Amino acid sequence: RETTKMAPTTSRTPRRKVRLTHPDRIYWPDEGVTKEGLADYYTEIWRHIAPFVVGRPLALVRCPQGIAGHSFFQKHAWKGLNPNIVLVKDPKDKSGEPMISINDLDGLIGLVQGAMLEIHPWGSTVADWERPDMIVMDLDPGEGVSWNAVVDAARETRERLTEAGLNAFVKTSGGKGLHVVAPLQPKANWTAVKAFTKSIADAMAADSPDLYVSTITKSKRRGKILVDYLRNQRGATAVAPYSSRARPGAAVSTPLTWEELGPDIGPAYFTIINVPTRLASLRKDPWDGFRAAAVPLEAPKKRGKKAA
Ligand code: ATP
Ligand code: MN
Ligand code: MN
Repeated sequence: RETTKMAPTTSRTPRRKVRLTHPDRIYWPDEGVTKEGLADYYTEIWRHIAPFVVGRPLALVRCPQGIAGHSFFQKHAWKGLNPNIVLVKDPKDKSGEPMISINDLDGLIGLVQGAMLEIHPWGSTVADWERPDMIVMDLDPGEGVSWNAVVDAARETRERLTEAGLNAFVKTSGGKGLHVVAPLQPKANWTAVKAFTKSIADAMAADSPDLYVSTITKSKRRGKILVDYLRNQRGATAVAPYSSRARPGAAVSTPLTWEELGPDIGPAYFTIINVPTRLASLRKDPWDGFRAAAVPLEAPKKRGKKAA
């Protein structure tokens, strides 16, 4: 069968050195995307994904036979890991079992060589494990929720983050929902950041109980959006911006501008096939200025107090 050719490389595309075994293995059968096609995708978009995957503890979804085979969520290093992958130790994990991190494109392609189809970083870096440098509000629509309602939920989440002095960015999940992400200066610890995100989720559920829930209970979710704040606790992960998803459709979790968020772009609209073209046609990344927009999370008692 024909396999999909990726967009031609440009002068801004770095070179990769890691050799792939089974480059022609089909990962996404419907789109004809192979293991090599995935490596080409990540090479092409490297400068866009790099800020979100370099220097962080990583979890992976690995699918050695592509999305049609079995897949597993991998939180620790394994034997035979590509040498471009960096082993790091969680200072709070007594078992000392090494975790995975990367510093460069070869590390990312080393993960592709290890059958990584999804990359899920922590919200903190290996330079400062205890203090997150971003918040991820994960909006999970229950059965029967319209896309417009998810879009509204993202806008409301943004408003609430903005009120708290933060700068919010939005991406598709590549699955069913949206992620609203806010960069932080790494000042507050996990406990404070989790409490802050819980307060936002709880306030949304309290103000609009017909639209939102903030607890996981499945039975309560039908027709509502779960405002999942639990990505923001120590050891939790969320799929990276520009990560592929190990699901039919070869979707990518894709950064959007707030202006383009709307009915026309569904959660899995952007894929391994069309994201490189999209980025090549944009003047700048939709999340340009993300890191520069980081602010410290204020202590809860200061927040919301009116100036005297
Ligand atoms: P969707 O839009 O479909 O919800 P999503 O990426 O937000 O896509 P969720 O199910 O809401 O998916 O989030 C699951 C998150 O939990 C993932 O981002 C992942 O980082 C984390 N996670 C923790 N353990 C696992 C696991 N065993 N398998 C998959 N994900 C896991
Ligand atoms: Mn989700
Ligand atoms: Mn979730």
